[in-house]
Parts: sequence; structure tokens; C-alpha cells
Amino acid sequence: MTANPDDFHAALTRASAGALEWIDSIPDRKVAPSANVNEMHAVFAGPLQDSPTDPATVVDELARLAEPGLMAMPSGRFFGWVIGGTLPASLGADWLVSAWDQNAAMRYASPATAAIEQVAGEWLLEALGLPATAELGFTTGATTANFTGLAPARAYLLDRVGWDVNTKGMSGSPRITVLASAERHTSVDLALRYLGFGAPSVVPADDQGRIVVDELRAALDAVAHEAATLGETPAPIILCLQAGNLHSGAFDPMAEAITLAHERGAWVHVDGAFGLWAAASPSLRAQLAGVELADSWATDAHKTLNVPYDCGVAIVSRPGVARAALGTQTAYLIRATGDAPDPMDLTPEMSRRARGVPVWAALKQLGRSGLVALIDGLVANAQSLATELAALPGVSVLNDVVFTQVCLSFGSDERTREVTARLIAEGAVWMSGSKWSGRDVLRISVSNWSTDAADVAFSVAAVRRAMELT
Ligand SMILES: *Cc1c(COP(=O)(O)O)cnc(C)c1O
Repeated sequence: MTANPDDFHAALTRASAGALEWIDSIPDRKVAPSANVNEMHAVFAGPLQDSPTDPATVVDELARLAEPGLMAMPSGRFFGWVIGGTLPASLGADWLVSAWDQNAAMRYASPATAAIEQVAGEWLLEALGLPATAELGFTTGATTANFTGLAPARAYLLDRVGWDVNTKGMSGSPRITVLASAERHTSVDLALRYLGFGAPSVVPADDQGRIVVDELRAALDAVAHEAATLGETPAPIILCLQAGNLHSGAFDPMAEAITLAHERGAWVHVDGAFGLWAAASPSLRAQLAGVELADSWATDAHKTLNVPYDCGVAIVSRPGVARAALGTQTAYLIRATGDAPDPMDLTPEMSRRARGVPVWAALKQLGRSGLVALIDGLVANAQSLATELAALPGVSVLNDVVFTQVCLSFGSDERTREVTARLIAEGAVWMSGSKWSGRDVLRISVSNWSTDAADVAFSVAAVRRAMELT
């Protein structure tokens, strides 16, 4: 096969046209897709044909055929799950990353992307108020970032009691007690499962989903007491905290919980998939005071920072520990000169795209003031939605709106489910249903940079319509 530059020109021109058509359609289109997955499967199904297809035709067909089955997640009227949009500079940067086609595993193999990701990491640590000496890797998302923070925790704590987990594994290892709140995100359980821990010991949470400090103290005391009885001191402990509860947006009481855990020699990991970004805002930072004292942190750039999928961030405070747990050494992977870890030493992946580059572009586009305005704007919109919706008859807001999340009830569980179903069926805006504290709720997550006052008003009207039809 011979490379023909014209094929790239044609394919990328079509891709650009298709992408812009999609983006131009967003302000006026319904958020919901107009075709379901079975209908979309029928559009694409069929045997792979024998003969090749012209590249530009492939791209053209893809853009045209996929369109009915796309959810307008980049819309300012999309409030489902916790899903950000994409800033123009980060989308542009993401295209370049694909065109450059760099394998971002090693510093010497791709100097430009390694340097850009390094700078993006430095900017992130500064913006989030985390120690400048911490080590940072770009993962696929926060689930992997939780894994990436907890793997060094496991290796470090076991090493401290004389057990090298890299050679000996987990079978027969000294026990590590993992504590996590009843309201942790399910991805923490996944990360623990991948690491061979099984389910965590659960510490109760309060009505906003925050870990209860007295319960945590009692749990830590119980672990220490049991270990002392068995002659196992010090008992290795991991505490998983949360910055940003999926339903309420609430933050665990960081300073108190971390201080208590550290008194017991525990490793503290913070899942801050979307909420860690509150630390970048002067008006919100007090809610996470002390978060910088933790030992590892997981966050997403594809949520609050609004970079394209997929981009998570894993941060470990002690230099060298992540590399000891996740790095490898083998002859064919010649390393750069110097001691700095390669990107592949700080995450589970070896080969990967340079997903940190769109983070650099997002931060560069925003600047410090823009980042603060982005985060504060999400919170202001969440508060407006909460206030305006709470004014409708029979609607109650179940959480204190301290960040970007709002949980609503429309009275009985049945009515809440009906209003949610109506809203989703109409599809003009998108909010998702859930269950929280034993009640059905309509959940709103304001995570898109482009949501504005008009989107808020439009969305309140859509909820009112759904209520009137129910
Ligand atoms: C979204 C989320 C995760 C998982 O993140 P992914 O990027 O989807 O892997 C973990 N924790 C919290 C609190 C989240 O909101």
C-alpha cells in the first residue's frame, strides 16, 4: 500500500465538515437521540464488504449515518450523569493529538507531548492546590485514576510491613483494611476489586453523603484494636474519601478525616472525579480544606474541566511510589536520560494517546481566571436551577446545593419517576433519574461550560411541561 496525502486531505476535510455540522446543530437540536441503539445497529449492520472504500466516503458516511443516534452531550441543556462538554481549544488539541499519532508512553520517544503533559500536570497541581512535588499521570478516567492511586497505596503499605507485593502478590499477604464511606462512588469498589481487595469496610455517611467523622474514628480504633490483639501492629489501612458526591455534590470533611487517618498511619485516597475542581475556586476551596494533605487523588478532566473523552488524572503525593507500583523495566524500552519517570511509569497503560495535551489546551484557553469562572459558573447555574425548580408546586430539592449537583423530588417516588420519564421522552433537555437515600430523584449535574441563563430558563420550562403532562 502506498500513502497518498490526498486521501488524508479528503478524509480530514470531510471529518472537519461533519464535526462542524454536528457542533452547529447543537444549540437548536433536541438533546435526546432520535434513534435507539437497535435502530442504529440496523443502520450499520451487515457483513464487512470485500472491496475497500474510499477514505473520504468512509468518514462522510460515518458522520451522516451516526447523527440520529448521537446524544447532544456537548449541549448546555444536557445535565445527565456527570458529563462535561468540550472547550474549543481542547477539541482542536484533541484532533492534533490524533493527527500527530504519538505513542505517549516515553519521554524520549515523544518529547513534545511528554513536555506538554508535564506542564499540564504542573498547572493542574497548582490550580488544585496540591503539592508541587506530587507525581501525576493521565488515565482514561477516574475509575482508572482510582486504581492508579490505590495501587501505590497497596504497594507502599505492604512494603512498610515487609511484603513486596510486586513479587509475592496478594495471596498470603498481610491484611490491609480498606475503609470507605457508604456513599462512595461505585468505581472505588471496582478499583479495589482490580487490586484484589474485595469490598471495603463501610463507614456511615450523613444525610448529605459525607463520611461521619465520629464513625470514622470508631472504625479506625476498631482496626487498631483488632490488630493489637492479633499482634499485627501497625495495621495497614487505606481510607477512601470523596470530594463531590454524585447526588449532593457534598465533600467529605477532609482535614478532620485525613488527620485522624494519618494518626493511624493510614494512606488516604481521595476520589474527586468532578469535585476536586472545587479546590481551584477561591470561593469553594474552604469546603475541601485539607484535601492537599491526602496521599493520592483521582480526578477527571473530561468532567468539570470540559476536555473531550477520555481523560482522567491520577496523582500520588510521594515521589517514586507510583513508579514502584506501576512502572516496569525491560530492555527494548530504552528510557530517556535522567531520573524523571516516564508517563508509562505512572499509569497502568504503556501505549496510549497523548490525552494530557487537551488538558494543556483547556487550561491555556481558560487561564486562571477562566478556570475559576468556569467552576463558579457551573455552581451558580446549579443554584439557579435549584431555586427556580423548588419554586414549582410540589417540587423539593433534597440536597444542599454546595456544588454542581441537584437532586429533586416531585412528591411520591412514583410521581418523580413519571416526571423523569416524561422529561426524557420529550428530550429537549436531559436530566437523569436515580435513587438517593431510599427515594427516587431527578438528578441534575451542571458540568457543561456552555450552560447559560437561557439554558437554565429553557430547562426549568421543560421540567414544568413534564410536570403538567403527568
Ligand atoms: C464519574 C465518577 C467516577 C468515575 O469516573 P470515570 O471517568 O467515569 O471512570 C468516579 N467517582 C466519581 C465521584 C464520579 O463522579
